[in-house]
Amino acid sequence: MSHRHGASAHGWAAALRYAVLGVAAMAVAACGLDDPAAGPTAAASSPAASAPTPGPASALRSPSGLTPDPTSAGTGAASSSLAEPGGPQRPAWLGTRVLPRRPDGLGEVQPTPAELVDRRLPPPDLRPAPDVFEATIEPVPDDVLERSTWIEDCPVALDELRYVTLTFWGFDDQPHLGEMIVHNSVTSDIAEVFGRLYDAHFPIEEMRVVAAHELDAPPTGDGNNTSAFVCRPSTGGSTWSEHAYGLAVDVNPFHNPYHRGDVVIPELASAYLDRDRDLPGMITAGDVVTEAFAAIGWGWGGGWNSSKDWMHFSRSGR
Ligand SMILES: [Zn+2]
Repeated sequence: MSHRHGASAHGWAAALRYAVLGVAAMAVAACGLDDPAAGPTAAASSPAASAPTPGPASALRSPSGLTPDPTSAGTGAASSSLAEPGGPQRPAWLGTRVLPRRPDGLGEVQPTPAELVDRRLPPPDLRPAPDVFEATIEPVPDDVLERSTWIEDCPVALDELRYVTLTFWGFDDQPHLGEMIVHNSVTSDIAEVFGRLYDAHFPIEEMRVVAAHELDAPPTGDGNNTSAFVCRPSTGGSTWSEHAYGLAVDVNPFHNPYHRGDVVIPELASAYLDRDRDLPGMITAGDVVTEAFAAIGWGWGGGWNSSKDWMHFSRSGR
């Protein structure tokens, strides 16, 4: 592996900490180590085997993380601790302005606010990290499970999911600590991908586990959370999303929206439908993001024909 990860010291220290706590854990230096908990049964849970249809209560929903946790909305004050105080601040209204609903239940697509046309915001929750990529992997802790979207009716068993922490590079040009829940069969692949993005300083705005209340929260159309597991149907569909298995990742949704016909999600992200803008945070064919996911065999929604889901990568390609 030619790229630098330097994960050993911090990563294994974290693993030791988890071991002391009596939790089966493992730190990955993103160099091909397999999650020991990922057994051959992992494939049996593939959505390709059988994709149960979500109940009527789970109709059309926005992609993950598009409705920020109201408790973390408008955290402009937190930005004051940025290393670069002169940099862009998070607008205080972010995540607070609810959009009118269309007849189909989605939020109205409205013009991108001037402050977000070239979006380069620091994370809402500043969790500074040392300038070295590290990834930790462990069973989903109780407190994380409690705030996640996982319930018994989800198409994946809890013991097939893992809680992963990852260092990511922010738009504020600083390293930050992120988190996501993924399927146990792809933990080392995901660490590999985000190790590459970190090394390339590809900027990510936010990376946190999607909370249960976000599934039914009114749309504000301005979220930008990078996440994996979300127990929800596919966008515009009635089958489980690949996210509901922890086998898909959305990267910077606002910079890389979903687009089909007159649907844009996030609803305020129309400024990013012009993919030739090629601004920081955007994903384009052949860039470090698509290359990193291609290297682990994952497909990209930016290559779809009937719709575009530029934020979306998945193991199945769906
Ligand atoms: Zn997605």
